[in-house]
Amino acid sequence: MDKKTQRCPYCQEDIYVNAIVCRYCRRDLPPDIPPLRPTEPTWIPLLIGAALVIGVTTLLRSNLGTGTTVEEDPHE
Ligand SMILES: [Zn+2]
Repeated sequence: MDKKTQRCPYCQEDIYVNAIVCRYCRRDLPPDIPPLRPTEPTWIPLLIGAALVIGVTTLLRSNLGTGTTVEEDPHE
C-alpha cells in the first residue's frame, strides 16, 4: 500500500497522493499534482554538473597539452 502524502495545493495540508478530494478543504484535486518544490529550479544542478564536467575535461586536456602527465604506472 502506498501511503505517501503530498501537500494540498489549496490549503497546504498533508493529504494522500492518490486522493481525489482534499479531506481538509474538500476541493477536487487534479489527478496528478506536480510536486510542490520550494523555488528550486531544476536547471541549476544540471548547470553545475555540466560546468564541473567541462571544467574537469578542460583541466585534463590542458594537463596533457602542457606535457604534465598524470602519474601512470605502465606495469600492473
Ligand atoms: Zn485542501
